[in-house]
Amino acid sequence: MFVYLNNKIVPASEAKVSVFDHGFLYGDGIYETMRVYDGVIFMLDEHIKRLYRSASLIGLNIPKKIPDIKISIYETLKANSLTNAYVRLTISRGYGTIGLDPDLCKEPTFVVMTNEFKSYPRSYYKEGIKSIISSVRRNLKEAINPQIKSLNFLNNILAKIEAKQADVYEAIMLNAEGYLTEGTISNIFFVKDNILCTPSVECGILDGITRAIVIDLALKNGLEVKEGKFTPEELYMASEVFITNTTMEVMPVSSIVDRTMHNTACIAHKPVGEISKLLLKKYQQEVNGYVKE
Ligand code: PMP
Repeated sequence: MFVYLNNKIVPASEAKVSVFDHGFLYGDGIYETMRVYDGVIFMLDEHIKRLYRSASLIGLNIPKKIPDIKISIYETLKANSLTNAYVRLTISRGYGTIGLDPDLCKEPTFVVMTNEFKSYPRSYYKEGIKSIISSVRRNLKEAINPQIKSLNFLNNILAKIEAKQADVYEAIMLNAEGYLTEGTISNIFFVKDNILCTPSVECGILDGITRAIVIDLALKNGLEVKEGKFTPEELYMASEVFITNTTMEVMPVSSIVDRTMHNTACIAHKPVGEISKLLLKKYQQEVNGYVKE
């Protein structure tokens, strides 16, 4: 296996970063996750645009020009002979002495890792995945803005630990006001009175690239879409629920357990709904069209 590190492809065993790297010391850096279908990186320009937005929000200068970033990803895929893959691009503040000052780091560390894409179990799509409403809150917009795809992921990891303890796949986090935000690595949607609802960016979410496509597809298919502030109760009452991200696409959610009250009193069971199925199908058609272009 090969990894792209700074300016070249190196064997994975030689892809080493210093213990003084501020990504390691402080989680100071950003990343993107992409999916490759038949050799084509889906929504590459959108991911790169978001990478630049994250960089700008943390005052990081990306050490490469956009065409060179694209070349580095394609070269890594080629070195690993991958056509259906998962790409993880990481840029940290880089090597520096101990101390929070970003100026201690002269050059960011740039890494591209690729892996064969392994499909999720079919049962996840047929039956839906289980979830909880986590007692861990999403970062405040005024703290680490959720629109920064930051290496500092401890909140989401704490929520994931809670999900694992509850033996479920995903944890949905609320914001400080108690409104729904998103999952640890996904955006959330639900259907209420035939309207597709999803927390707005103002609630404190990462504006997922899959989320934007799903909203667009829903509108194109005649559905009403509402972005706004929603409560966990509205999720429990929904007729269907699903989560989205680059690798899962559109994944139905079959149950939600409330862990916010330190009890498990509220459990909502959901069938895999027709709108979820339709949007997954439309999403996959969109991917196929993009790949053939
Ligand atoms: N929210 C969070 C916190 C995430 O980590 C992700 C995965 N990148 C998403 C939402 C979904 O984003 P996307 O559709 O761009 O993969």
